[in-house]
Amino acid sequence: MLTESQKQRYLRNTILPEIGELGQEKLLNAKVLVIGAGGLGSPVLLYLAAAGIGNIGVVDDDIVELSNLQRQVIHNEKNLGQKKVASAREKISDLNPDVNLTIFSERANREILRKICVDYDFILDATDNFPTRFIINEIAHEQKKPLIFAAVKGFLGQVSTFKSYQKNNPCYSCFNPNILDENFSLPLAEKGILGSVAGTIGALQATTTIREILGIGESLVGKILLFDFLKNDFRKVSLKKSSSCKICNAVT
Ligand SMILES: [Zn+2]
Repeated sequence: MLTESQKQRYLRNTILPEIGELGQEKLLNAKVLVIGAGGLGSPVLLYLAAAGIGNIGVVDDDIVELSNLQRQVIHNEKNLGQKKVASAREKISDLNPDVNLTIFSERANREILRKICVDYDFILDATDNFPTRFIINEIAHEQKKPLIFAAVKGFLGQVSTFKSYQKNNPCYSCFNPNILDENFSLPLAEKGILGSVAGTIGALQATTTIREILGIGESLVGKILLFDFLKNDFRKVSLKKSSSCKICNAVT
């Protein structure tokens, strides 16, 4: 049951027939892990917290630097030099006390992520490098958890959902070498990104997550959204499971 203050806070959610008060309770009970508190993680965390996702974990071991503020909107000048997860905790507790936020100031490696992911129902890849993306994909597959993926570079963005633990669904590793622009793999320091592009894609990643939690609308499983904001080109492309993929063809 929603409290009186929750009924007010989430009115614009619950008034939507696809959500209602029961849907809002689902959101308040959801357990979502966001890996990365940077360009994608910032809008994702803010929108998930504002929507009333009741349990959010965030993994990041970086500190806030001046060059982050051009796009990482959850941090501000007074957070310079602080851990990103601490800065995120401050903003989220100011925004919505309903959110039970757990911070993990850890480098996202395989061993640590395996332990952390166990406690969450949805895994969000908001990182910026290929090695970590592959690890997250493996763990989401192993632990049979939906993976909500997003990536940005320059004026380009991508969003998808993977449920490779279900029969015939692809995983991130199935398509990666074929579709992804190799430039996506460059470390962030070497690539440019417009802040509003990261914000748009992060907001889409949050919307995709909320849709998956509620089980409404059309899932992005087996599809990827590709955005080119310079050309105003937005596409939805089908993804096929690869029979040679070592990750999702392995018996778990
Ligand atoms: Zn695969």
